Amino acid sequence: MAAKNFDMIVIGAGPGGYVAAIRGAQLGLNVAVIERENLGGICLNWGCIPTKALLRSSEVFHLMHRAKEFGLSADGIGYDLDAVVKRSRGVAKQMEGGVKHLLKKNKVTVIMGEATIPAKGKVSVKSDAGTEELTAKNIVLATGARARNLPGLEADGERVWSYRHALVPPHQPKKLLVIGSGAIGIEFASFYNTLGADTTVVEVMDRVLPVEDAEISAFAKKQFEKQGMKIMEKSVVKQLDRTKTKVTAHIETGGKVIKEEFDTVISAVGIVGNVEGLGLEGLGVKIDRTHVVTDEFCRTGVDGLYAIGDIAGAPWLAHKASHEGVMVAEVIAGKHAHPVKPESIAGCTYCHPQVASVGYTEAKAKELGYDVKVGKFPFIGNGKAVALGEPEGMVKTVFDAKTGELLGAHMVGAEVTELIQGYVVGRQLETTEEDLMNTVFPHPTLSEMMHESVLAAYGKAIHI
Ligand SMILES: Cc1cc2nc3c(=O)[nH]c(=O)nc-3n(C[C@H](O)[C@H](O)[C@H](O)COP(=O)(O)OP(=O)(O)OC[C@H]3O[C@@H](n4cnc5c(N)ncnc54)[C@H](O)[C@@H]3O)c2cc1C
Repeated sequence: MAAKNFDMIVIGAGPGGYVAAIRGAQLGLNVAVIERENLGGICLNWGCIPTKALLRSSEVFHLMHRAKEFGLSADGIGYDLDAVVKRSRGVAKQMEGGVKHLLKKNKVTVIMGEATIPAKGKVSVKSDAGTEELTAKNIVLATGARARNLPGLEADGERVWSYRHALVPPHQPKKLLVIGSGAIGIEFASFYNTLGADTTVVEVMDRVLPVEDAEISAFAKKQFEKQGMKIMEKSVVKQLDRTKTKVTAHIETGGKVIKEEFDTVISAVGIVGNVEGLGLEGLGVKIDRTHVVTDEFCRTGVDGLYAIGDIAGAPWLAHKASHEGVMVAEVIAGKHAHPVKPESIAGCTYCHPQVASVGYTEAKAKELGYDVKVGKFPFIGNGKAVALGEPEGMVKTVFDAKTGELLGAHMVGAEVTELIQGYVVGRQLETTEEDLMNTVFPHPTLSEMMHESVLAAYGKAIHI
């Protein structure tokens, strides 16, 4: 039987792959997407979306405890973890169904199975139904990433969890150790801590949320500690001794090793790209550690082979994957495509309080030689924040003193993950401080703090 031929085959239907497939089909290409597990990938099924559903439950729970502050009463506040998880799984399922519908609507051929690339332009798909051979002029690798397992700290699904286990917990943690305080670790710490787990976070770097601006990390840390979390920075989990019911962690901190018992550990020490078993070595694809090396148009250097999203390296974010998906489809269809600028991709963490940023931190901007102007505005000075009962937070902006370019924006507090996009648009349009100062922000909104932070950088803030 002759192999089925497509203009473009996408391997992996995460936010990189399914978006690339849809855009390709919209541009008139005959597209197939191959997926071995769930349409929507990690993001919709085991990442962005189900975590946000869990965090919404813990947020509502937290607010119910504050009912009195708002003149309300709520008695017998409680939760059922199974029901919280069921809701999160239901949200993921609904989103997966949405992706299936969109692929069908755009006439993308969906093949469920495990793909390999036996030779240039060829894809072999294994499924329960057997092996199917396909050919395509263009192949897009969008196979994503998985949790990193450090020796001795490997997840076992019982007492030591990866993010997958933490999303469908086999038991409720009472004393929880979270290893790693990046976005994934801190979101789970926030969720379980709010539900009452005695939570400790161990971070090897000198501060929590280490990629964020140092002032934002420090602010967030204070809030986490107020909520009862124990934060151990510059500390390393060296060993985990496991029994059926507990784990003893050996933690190196302050020059000595302490031992502490937990009933649950979440290992959130990073991710590794899914580069194995695809046949990439035989094709001569360049791999740096666990990521495929690409140019700005996601080309691998092998004719007709592209890589997008998590497999193509940092930042490991769904919106970066999707944007690359659109771009690669446009490159393949011969359209004028715009490369993605990594420094203009916002990062959001949906812990309580939320954290969001784009561009350079103050320290990075100085390290790059910029003469900077920095503005800061606290949530307490904003009417909407106080009315919402969310007076804790800050907005910080970093400008190039010479040109007025917005180099970076950093926020911590309620709803900042929704606000950051204002600065992202500003950066995309190469807005100067003057444009931002002349922009009228609606009142009363949290967004007014974004204006005030810019004004503050130039000594013109009104409400501080
Ligand atoms: C707990 C958690 C929370 C997160 N929260 C956020 C967030 O809030 N915001 C954000 O932007 N990002 C978040 N992320 C990161 C985000 O999920 C990833 O950046 C995003 O999913 C990457 O998309 P992708 O398309 O590159 O890969 P993936 O989503 O990983 O999809 C890859 C797909 O390829 C399939 N696949 C792999 N190999 C093969 C093969 N050989 N054959 C067939 N199919 C294959 C996989 O089954 C998978 O479905 C989170 C991640 C985690 C783990």
